[in-house]
Amino acid sequence: MSYNDKEIFDLIQEEQERQKTGLELIASENYVSTDVLAAAGSILTNKYAEGYPGKRYYGGCEVVDEIETIAIERAKELFNAEYVNVQPHSGSQANTAVFHACLKPGEKILGFDLSHGGHLTHGSPVNFSGKLYETSFYGVEKETGLLNYDKIQSIAEKERPKLIIAGASAYSREIDYERFREIADSVNAILLADIAHPAGLIAKGILQDAVAYAHICTSTTHKTLRGPRGGIIIMGKDFENPFGEKLKNGNLKKMSSLLNSGVFPGNQGGPLEHIIAAKAVAFKEALSEDFLKYIVQVKKNAKVMAEEFVKREYNIISGGTDNHMMLIDLRNKNITGKQAEEALGKADITVNKNMVPFDDQSPFVTSGIRIGTAAITTRGLLESDMSSIVKLIDNVISNSEDENYIKECKRLVNQLISDFPLYKV
Ligand code: PLP
Repeated sequence: MSYNDKEIFDLIQEEQERQKTGLELIASENYVSTDVLAAAGSILTNKYAEGYPGKRYYGGCEVVDEIETIAIERAKELFNAEYVNVQPHSGSQANTAVFHACLKPGEKILGFDLSHGGHLTHGSPVNFSGKLYETSFYGVEKETGLLNYDKIQSIAEKERPKLIIAGASAYSREIDYERFREIADSVNAILLADIAHPAGLIAKGILQDAVAYAHICTSTTHKTLRGPRGGIIIMGKDFENPFGEKLKNGNLKKMSSLLNSGVFPGNQGGPLEHIIAAKAVAFKEALSEDFLKYIVQVKKNAKVMAEEFVKREYNIISGGTDNHMMLIDLRNKNITGKQAEEALGKADITVNKNMVPFDDQSPFVTSGIRIGTAAITTRGLLESDMSSIVKLIDNVISNSEDENYIKECKRLVNQLISDFPLYKV
């Protein structure tokens, strides 16, 4: 196809080539299907639709109403949920909307420390969540790299937060949402499970069902769920929640309307109906048997990859993984996260530098890298491919200053991935 804006479309082409020829190991990325791409790039981008299906502030919304309703119904089926809002433009905006709906500025939240694996929106001082609310944090144990639920219970009792967030950007172990709910109930707090990363695994029953235990869940749609970039808010079938005076023994209607208002008009204007259509397509894909096979393979690949790293004396935080990702502390390899990310990038292996718990480096340098298998599994790589990938990563890290050697690694990476073609668009 030819386009008028050559400058931008040439760059898109270049990016497509990068995605095609490299090993994509960023834990929060994936490759969407051509159907998802087509919906996201569709004429629905032209449509304004402030409001919700059947209750819009613009005319001409009959078609997008149908699309948004299908997206909601599919997401409800996928997560066995009673309520879903598909409008948040991102995971961060889904969290913002929940905070708006449940908290007054200045009220206290308890979240997973960013430097231990949490997300910016869980109370970081540089984020709205840390600026508008009083914060308190839990982290992982130094010796094990694991969450200690007894300690979280004690912190909750001491801090008495109004809302507790269970969920992470860099925690490779299963989160016990049931236990989190007990903790939340014991201090009369609302439990928000942010399942942005493991959503695909949770949807298919591979990890504990957050929706069954948390009062509210938020997620991104673009990580293990393999949809377009965006966010969602989910509520399960439990409405006997300590949701503040107004919602004592609250009902679905009140809670949905609080959350809906938290998104629009609380935090966003017009929804992105092209992205909502792409979310609908992705939810249908995620409901399929093929997606189950895919997500089982994502987890298998991650497990084998972590074992291969351990064989090569890499320090995986917590010693392994239960999900799609792992966090590697590189301090025993005498290289920082920043240096490793740069060297691997030169070999067309994309990872991100990441703080490790109790890190002594700044967030711009870091002592670790985070790796995930969602994208390479979409390309078709299996557990039998993991040892060659780990070998390549190890070779680059061990020879990070040898440009010629890295060039040879890049050639091997390009060769390996060429057996797993990416769509042509
Ligand atoms: N929550 C968690 C746990 C995340 O890991 C992320 C993104 O990485 C987000 C929320 C925010 O998602 P977004 O980048 O779409 O705002």
